[in-house]
Amino acid sequence: MELTDTQRRTLDGLIGSGDRPTFAADLSQRLRDRIESAVRELELAEPLWLGKEKLNQHGRCEGLFQSVLAGESPPFAHSARSAHGVLLHKAIEVEVGARDGMDPHEITRVAVGRVLEREERFEEYWRELSAAEQDDVLMEVVRRVALFQGSFPPLKPLRRELSPISELRVRAELLGGDLVLSGQIDLVLGMPDSVEPNRATRLVVDLKTGSAYPEFAEDMRFYALVMTLRFGVPPYRAASLFLESGTWQAEDVTEELLLHAADRAIGAARAAAALSNGRDPALTPGVYCGWCSRAATCPEAELPTAG
Ligand code: SF4
Repeated sequence: MELTDTQRRTLDGLIGSGDRPTFAADLSQRLRDRIESAVRELELAEPLWLGKEKLNQHGRCEGLFQSVLAGESPPFAHSARSAHGVLLHKAIEVEVGARDGMDPHEITRVAVGRVLEREERFEEYWRELSAAEQDDVLMEVVRRVALFQGSFPPLKPLRRELSPISELRVRAELLGGDLVLSGQIDLVLGMPDSVEPNRATRLVVDLKTGSAYPEFAEDMRFYALVMTLRFGVPPYRAASLFLESGTWQAEDVTEELLLHAADRAIGAARAAAALSNGRDPALTPGVYCGWCSRAATCPEAELPTAG
């Protein structure tokens, strides 16, 4: 298959080939035991769901984390930003399964139709947009689909080798569901190895627009942990791919990386339990105060000054 230089770079450098690492068969169980033994004694008021956002909120400020756990944030409503994300993910699903020759415009149109059919909140948002606003959203998604196609080798002809899955929802239930670690991974590539099932054969990828943040690496470590708990074998690599540049930030998955991710989840669960049992949150302000629901009343809020 003919590839552009950029697609070849992704195929060789990010997806890679050759021997994949093999992990101990008991690794998943040891990670599970580590988390469950640390969390078992906590008095969690109710089942605690942790995803990458909540873990990041915990890392930023306990006050922000507590406000999210308490449901103080306004209910989710679509914005142009979230619409771009939802549509791009659906468009990649279309791209992976599409018949030949669909261009980014057609892929985007099909994606919009599918999301409108299945997501009531998106349908409400879309209905309120003017035709020009809908066109703006569509064009942004077309641009992102074109960037995706320019970054990855065509996934359809490689379906047999790469087994691409978009928007994979994964969930690990611990302590009978008292603690749930969950996520939705933009793209998973790679088939399980039926001969050597403990060989890591999957790559997990999050697609990003805009600048890189240090938290992106933590997001991907968390996904690697949830994949390990869910499937019993880790991915071999976890990466954020930046659509504008076609570059990526990737880490090979190791046992140390998974232990780090497990300990980060344990830290958040401990904090959630302590906060729900009356401990005051440690307030550590930052730029994120601007979108914290407690900003108006928090004594430590760090907000931009007018002018
Ligand atoms: S306003 Fe800032 S310091 Fe206060 S709780 Fe929110 S994020 Fe934390």
